[in-house]
Parts: sequence; structure tokens; C-alpha cells
Amino acid sequence: LFITFEGPEGAGKSTVLQKIVERMQTQNIDVLSTREPGGIEIAEKIREVILNPAHTAMDERTEALLYAAARSQHFYEKVIPALHQGQLVLCDRFIDSSLAYQGHARGIGIDEVLAINEFAIGKRMPDLTVLFDLEPSVGLARIQAHSSREVNRLDVESLAFHKRVREGYHIVMNRYPDRIKLVNADQHLDQVVENVWDILTNFLNE
Ligand code: C5P
Repeated sequence: LFITFEGPEGAGKSTVLQKIVERMQTQNIDVLSTREPGGIEIAEKIREVILNPAHTAMDERTEALLYAAARSQHFYEKVIPALHQGQLVLCDRFIDSSLAYQGHARGIGIDEVLAINEFAIGKRMPDLTVLFDLEPSVGLARIQAHSSREVNRLDVESLAFHKRVREGYHIVMNRYPDRIKLVNADQHLDQVVENVWDILTNFLNE
């Protein structure tokens, strides 16, 4: 099964994912955790190109295509083989990030971005997606409190941009109501972990 974690900056996705993986391992679940953009060498290199703060001239179509390229490589090199081996794959960001960020927030159009991404992944959508939902101002305040975070090209984006990202995620969730489950990320970390754990165990025991 292929499960993805989605949401804005500062929602705690990566931290929660790490804790979920640890808990699964204590239960002997064969789990692989990975992230996008990146997860393997070629895709990490594309990530550096996309997120480099010096690349202020990057056109949004280029950005969307590079995300799709990184996704395709990561998907066929790492995700698909793991799924074939019967592993449970947990991925930090996937196609819905592109639909929300490039499709909606950057204004390319969700359908346009969906089309290039369906090509990139052969239309193999996640089985389940956990969407971390958070007021953008709360997420941005959390990021500013963590100065160790890598600097990236998105750091200059306005609050309005991040509001469009959230709106984009909500539109995408309404398109895929069976696949995407929402979690309130504006809670204590332990509580978010419990909520995500409940969603995952309900799904796995279905
Ligand atoms: O989740 P993570 O912090 O690794 O994401 C790296 C950056 O890439 C974030 O600033 C995120 O908003 C951005 N991003 C994006 N479009 C995507 C995926 C990620 O702008 N499709």
C-alpha cells in the first residue's frame, strides 16, 4: 500500500511521519519512508535546482515539470519496487503538493498539473493520503521559530500564497474525498500523531 502525507510548511508532517514509522517498526510492519521532492540521488539533485533561492527567474511551468520529473524518477526507482516487495510505503509529499502549489497557488490550473503528473506516475494514485490542515500563519510562525530549517525559494512567498496553497489542498480533497483524510495539525504534536495513527490503523484494518 502506498500512503502519502500532505500539507503546508510547518504542519509537522515530517516529524509525525518519523514517529509513525518508529511505531510501525515496533509492531514489525515492513515500512519504507521516503520524501519528495527527493528520496533518491537524481530527484535530490532536481530538488536542489527547484528550491535554490538563487533561481528567482524560474518559470512556474518549469517548476511544475521539474517536480513531475523528480516524482517520476523517485516513483519508478524507489516506490514501485518497494510496493512490489510488499512494503508499506509512506511518502512525505506527492502529487497533491503539485496540484495545490503549482496547480492552484501558482495558478497553472489543477487539471493541467494533474495531466503532466498522471504521465509522470502512470496514473498510479496513492491508496490513502493524510492531509495536515493548518492556518498558514500558524505554520509560518512555526518555521520562523526553527532557524535550522534549510533556506528555500519558497521562503519569499507571501501569506496570500500560502493561503492559496491551503485552498488548493481543500479543492483537491473535495475531488478525492475517499482517498484524502484531513487531520487538524493545529494541536499538540502527540495528539496529531494519535490522530494520524488512528486513520492509518483504521485503513490498514479495513
Ligand atoms: O516538505 P518540504 O519542506 O520538503 O518541501 C520543500 C519545499 O518545496 C517547501 O517550501 C514546499 O512548499 C515546496 N514545494 C512546492 N511544490 C511542491 C512540493 C513542495 O512548492 N509540489
